[in-house]
Amino acid sequence: MASEDLDLDMMKTPCPVCESNNTKVIQKIMDLPHFPQMWFFNLSCSDCHYKYNDFINLSIKDPFRYIYHAENKEDYTTKIVRAANGTIRFPQIEAIIEPGPNAVGFINNIEGILRDIQGKVKFLLSDAETQEERKKIMDYITMLDEYIENNKPIDIIVEDPFGNSTIIPADVTKLETIKLSEEEAEKLKTGFVVFEGVKEKHD
Ligand SMILES: [Zn+2]
Repeated sequence: MASEDLDLDMMKTPCPVCESNNTKVIQKIMDLPHFPQMWFFNLSCSDCHYKYNDFINLSIKDPFRYIYHAENKEDYTTKIVRAANGTIRFPQIEAIIEPGPNAVGFINNIEGILRDIQGKVKFLLSDAETQEERKKIMDYITMLDEYIENNKPIDIIVEDPFGNSTIIPADVTKLETIKLSEEEAEKLKTGFVVFEGVKEKHD
């Protein structure tokens, strides 16, 4: 499918939140390294300010797991294309970003994603009920600072049952690409954004 063949009217859609027709849809085919046919679309509603982003990979349809082993400043610039159904995991810091009803697509680099996680964890501080809980959250925030500022070695795993999420590596030799079996793809969870590290420490 060539980009000029996209039917723009097909994308005219009322707002899924307030059902207003004052929505604007932007879509384009992005030519990313290794992923020449990434379809980006963005819907925004001028009435309720709902926004939605997603990516559809037109060149790959199979479920993949991508693993990038970051260990220096350049590696931290590795970009992640996260479609709405993509799961991102950082095993070393026990953080997981899972798809859920409010999940949207984004492109960000490793440092940016770690900063986002840090921002969301900071937000949890206001809900902390005990001094102990507060300290655990603060420790987690400090640990993230150490990763971000010192570019400590960290693995990032990106999985998508529809093959729409991917990693654009700073160094291709540090990227592992594994095709998922149907069983593995089916097992990919859906849910809200969860930070396992903090959650576990609460228990
Ligand atoms: Zn709306």
